[in-house]
Amino acid sequence: MLTAKAISQLTQAIAEDGVREICGLLLSDTENNINFWKVPNVSCQAHSFAMSQTDTSRIYRHAARMGLRIRAIVHSHPDGVMASAYDRREMRRSNLPWIIVHLTKHGLDWRMYGEEPAGSL
Ligand SMILES: [Zn+2]
Repeated sequence: MLTAKAISQLTQAIAEDGVREICGLLLSDTENNINFWKVPNVSCQAHSFAMSQTDTSRIYRHAARMGLRIRAIVHSHPDGVMASAYDRREMRRSNLPWIIVHLTKHGLDWRMYGEEPAGSL
């Protein structure tokens, strides 16, 4: 699901934010162009992430207006793509796949958890 463009957007976002985890949503248009929409990480703790309801609602409204589809929740880890216990708990409450990304010196490593809902592109 991660296209070259989305990988480049994620790589840049991780490079800009240094040690902090980045997070956001993956959106696709009707031609299946996929873009990463960064959302501010409002978590107060290191090695965790949280997206505010305000920020995610804004993207959901924009997606509905523009006919875009929300495809996945994405966040980064500083040390690999394995889901934490917290991640696994939250994934079960989510109706979207989760993608965890990790920037290595050889490029972006990523792993998708969960399935896309039936009928998705
Ligand atoms: Zn995580």
